[in-house]
Amino acid sequence: MKLPFAEPYKSKTIEIIRTSSPAERERWIRDARYNLFNLPSDQVYIDLLTDSGTGALSDRQWAAMMTGDESYAGSRSFDQLRDTVEELTGFRYLLPTHQGRAAENVLFSTLIKAGDRIPGNAHFDTTKGHIEFRKAMAVDCTIAEASDPTCIHPFKGNVDLAKLRSELENHRDRIPFIIITATCNTAGGQPVSIRNIREVHGIAREFGKPMVIDAARFAENAWFIREREPAYSGRPMREIILEMFSYFDAMTFSAKKDAIVNIGGLLALRDADWYQKASVFNIMFEGYLTYGGQAGRDLAALAQGLRESTEPEYLEARIQQVAWLGQRMKEFGVPVLEPFGGHAIFVDALRALPLVSREQFPAQTLAIELYKEGGIRTAEIGTLMADRDPISGQNRYPALEMVRLAIPRRVYSQNHMDYVAVAAANVMERAEKITSGYNIVREAPILRHFTVELEPA
Ligand SMILES: *Cc1c(COP(=O)(O)O)cnc(C)c1O
Repeated sequence: MKLPFAEPYKSKTIEIIRTSSPAERERWIRDARYNLFNLPSDQVYIDLLTDSGTGALSDRQWAAMMTGDESYAGSRSFDQLRDTVEELTGFRYLLPTHQGRAAENVLFSTLIKAGDRIPGNAHFDTTKGHIEFRKAMAVDCTIAEASDPTCIHPFKGNVDLAKLRSELENHRDRIPFIIITATCNTAGGQPVSIRNIREVHGIAREFGKPMVIDAARFAENAWFIREREPAYSGRPMREIILEMFSYFDAMTFSAKKDAIVNIGGLLALRDADWYQKASVFNIMFEGYLTYGGQAGRDLAALAQGLRESTEPEYLEARIQQVAWLGQRMKEFGVPVLEPFGGHAIFVDALRALPLVSREQFPAQTLAIELYKEGGIRTAEIGTLMADRDPISGQNRYPALEMVRLAIPRRVYSQNHMDYVAVAAANVMERAEKITSGYNIVREAPILRHFTVELEPA
């Protein structure tokens, strides 16, 4: 028999987690005002809320932390991180930040003014938040296939070139740059092909516009390129990654995803002038240029994490674990988004709970049911997250109403994945009895899903 592929690592320390009774969970979710963000983590058995900052560090990352240089200026750990980032991405200038959104804040402070329009592929929620906060607009130019949860397309994160071109033709003077998110979190963890990036780059050059990459999951995107884009089949990961970045002028980066650290972000730039402008805001918002809100040991772990996350053996295990969960759920009749994403499985809540009206948040309802069933915490990627239209104040109904099961890196076992799949199957079994959802009791004016309070409708 052919040997199956298994994880290229083993456990050295473990964390105890415990399950709970349905009655306890019923009470806890009510106390949390039906917002899963409000649950204390010890009321959660399997936490798939996010893959952000939840990965397991390696012994080498912990060892690297001991070598961290905590000098305020000129830290050796910074120099080593800058060299690693340059080697991997080709970007010469580096500003550490405390998170990915901080990198957005710093870069956008230099680039965006009120009335601007920022075309891209399904902007991440903090990216959109930082654009709208500046009274500018995020223009979604993702291909139409992305909003069809059953459509099989190898690169559902791709940009629709005709949409992008018409946006540039109609609003040329109000567009400071184009942003591409890889992989595309909001569209289901779907990748963007190099070919698409190259074509977007061609259009951008034609109109004289710079390109920014939101690169939180750059390694997973590069893995999909190697697997699905024939011209790159079997090519070394590092080569694919370098080419991918070569089309961009700047990168905003949340280190909490593919760099497998618990906190941190980066802003990397190709141009000295952009670097100098951004430096002013980095010092103001984040900290001095060589640490930007991170400890020297954080920078050391980040550099090591970047190396590990670009190893093909690691990426294969990572992507296969996510696909395993997706395949099991699919076999149980759970309507999952396909192809499976790189970091998460997405469930189509409109098909899973067809009797819950959109006004009552079917995706949030499904997430609550999964918690009640198995103590599993997931995230709503639907109407709650889409916020209200800033002008009309009405709920925005996105094309997809989804529950995201994000898989932390190197944390859970295959048994955990099987447990999750069965819990989802059990919820599906009683779906025809779930006829109503939730109403909002209180909400914040922006990024409301983090703090919203709900009651059963
Ligand atoms: C997480 C994420 C961000 C924001 O990063 P934080 O570190 O959470 O601030 C931006 N873009 C994408 C695609 C992300 O996944």
